[in-house]
Amino acid sequence: MIIKTKSPEETFEVGVKIGRLLKKGDIISLNGDLGAGKTHLTKGIAKGIEVDEYITSPTFTLVNEYTGRIPLYHFDVYRINDIEELYEIGFDEYIYGDGVSVIEWGDIIKEILPDNIININIKKIDDNTREIHIDAKELDLGGLK
Ligand code: ADP
Ligand code: MG
Repeated sequence: MIIKTKSPEETFEVGVKIGRLLKKGDIISLNGDLGAGKTHLTKGIAKGIEVDEYITSPTFTLVNEYTGRIPLYHFDVYRINDIEELYEIGFDEYIYGDGVSVIEWGDIIKEILPDNIININIKKIDDNTREIHIDAKELDLGGLK
């Protein structure tokens, strides 16, 4: 499914709808160039999971944890040098745990992610236009329409 958005707010709203559909154990690999809107979409997803805290980019911390209807683990693996860094912070306990994992730049660590994950790719069309490509056998996207 491809959804076109024409503002950051619209991308946020797509995130909210996705967030509402997520269940514990779901893993989202979120890809797209720098400035595509990955963090923006994640803020919407957090709202859809009923997280009240302010979402900041985990670029330097690798992961931020939030409490909502279910826990949210927000990763950004752009800066990892070695997969080992992820195991040091207990990556498996997160992704096989009781929350939802959203992994910005997930393609970088594709080889250590399970197969049945939700792949989302954001393409920058112009300054304010984005195409959000959602590929998910696991997510019932009926609720998105
Ligand atoms: P990333 O995490 O992919 O690097 P961010 O979410 O941090 O990207 O930033 C996206 C930037 O693009 C923000 O400055 C946002 O205002 C801008 N933007 C413009 N149009 C859109 C859109 N349709 N959807 C999402 N972000 C948009
Ligand atoms: Mg980001």
